[in-house]
Amino acid sequence: CSGLAVKCGKVEEVETHEEGCLRKAPPVLDYHGIDQDLIEEMVYDSLVWSSLHGLVVGDKSAQRSGKVPGVGLVHAPFALLPVPFPESHWTQACELAPIFSELVDRVSLDGKFLQDSLSRTKKADSFTSRLLDIHSKMLEINKKEEIRLGLHRSDYMLDEKTKLLLQIELNTISSSFPGLSCLVNELQRSLLNQHGEDLGLDPKRIPSNSAVSHFVEAFAKAWNEYNNPRGGKAIAVVYFRAGYAPNDYPSESEWRARLLMEQSSAIKCPSISYHLAGTKKIQQELAKPNVLERFLDNKEDIAKLRECFAGLWSLDDSDIVEKAIEKPELFVMKPQREGGGNNIYGVDVRETLQRLQKEGTDGNAAYILMQRIFPTVFPTFLMRDGICHKDHAISELGIYGAYLRNKDKVIMNDQCGFLMRTKISSSDEGGVAAGFAVLDSIYLT
Ligand code: ADP
Ligand code: MG
Ligand code: MG
Repeated sequence: CSGLAVKCGKVEEVETHEEGCLRKAPPVLDYHGIDQDLIEEMVYDSLVWSSLHGLVVGDKSAQRSGKVPGVGLVHAPFALLPVPFPESHWTQACELAPIFSELVDRVSLDGKFLQDSLSRTKKADSFTSRLLDIHSKMLEINKKEEIRLGLHRSDYMLDEKTKLLLQIELNTISSSFPGLSCLVNELQRSLLNQHGEDLGLDPKRIPSNSAVSHFVEAFAKAWNEYNNPRGGKAIAVVYFRAGYAPNDYPSESEWRARLLMEQSSAIKCPSISYHLAGTKKIQQELAKPNVLERFLDNKEDIAKLRECFAGLWSLDDSDIVEKAIEKPELFVMKPQREGGGNNIYGVDVRETLQRLQKEGTDGNAAYILMQRIFPTVFPTFLMRDGICHKDHAISELGIYGAYLRNKDKVIMNDQCGFLMRTKISSSDEGGVAAGFAVLDSIYLT
């Protein structure tokens, strides 16, 4: 058997011997070896495709952008060619989606676990404290959410050294890009349909992405379960596309609105308990020994989840804090925030830990420490503002999961599409909207 390799735009046969038998080698995809004229042609085609298919976002440099519909648009930042990704890890990530959704649901029902786990964080972080206050009020009035809708995205990086797929975080609020990720997927497939033969790439090795239609289906099914045809009057589903960051609450009136929505009978996506279940502190608590067992019965599921947990620690752990001060490059320090651009890396980890040690108060409870993951660096072409940048990059795979439940009946619990984000390897953070990364898709190897 033989594998295909693309080098300098030419296809090469690759053969390897393993344990006496000829094994299929994974394709070696050296995108930087592709002929320059072909790249230029694809750059042009991709920009035309983006304009025609609505792969666009607001252009920050245009004054009227965001104020007048259809004015001041630019193509979304994207990678020209899909990231090579091992099929086995892709399957593993897809299988995890329904298990994580089930876990979030179980955790959300344990109000005491959420309150206790976040009790020290509450003292150190006023934003989390406000969320916990809403949650406490719902516990006091014994509010039950019988219909529960979750639209999650679990993010992973593939650690190069250990070849382990490790979870970065689980998003339970405002999971972004179900729409644009589908478009980028179609764009890259269309480029491979057109140029695949010259590139030595098979468009069928790009998995299809159904995130947007699945999310819409989940909304429709939730509306159905709510079962009030006077929907025009009562609100059946509240979806939060904001509300995850302190800036979304500039005054008390936004907090009042959040409380009002939580008190209402509408299905909240997410409810305050789902929101809190997705915090980084809870991620770290769930990674402690014997905690998953509190929420899930199936041993195989528990093992699958644990396999993708990276090292996660509370700052109470003085041994790990000492280690992080000594080797800060091996850790990421995370506050209870969402949306990218909030984490602490490198020497800043050391400085912040030393400052917190000096202050000696509850300040350290605002953060968790996480093992830094180092994914494989690969050659890529990144498109931003109509300009193609030839660079080296790393990627983060997000798998969407939709979960809908009415009392004891699970109506939907599916893996439903994916988001690949690619960023230049020298950047620490990863947000697309925050300007660090581009949208991408995957090429199964
Ligand atoms: P947010 O909720 O703000 O997106 P994340 O935990 O996803 O927070 O961190 C933001 C980005 O930081 C990620 O997209 C990723 O690029 C990088 N990052 C986070 N955790 C790690 C880690 N353990 N190792 C390497 N990079 C990380
Ligand atoms: Mg997040
Ligand atoms: Mg993230």
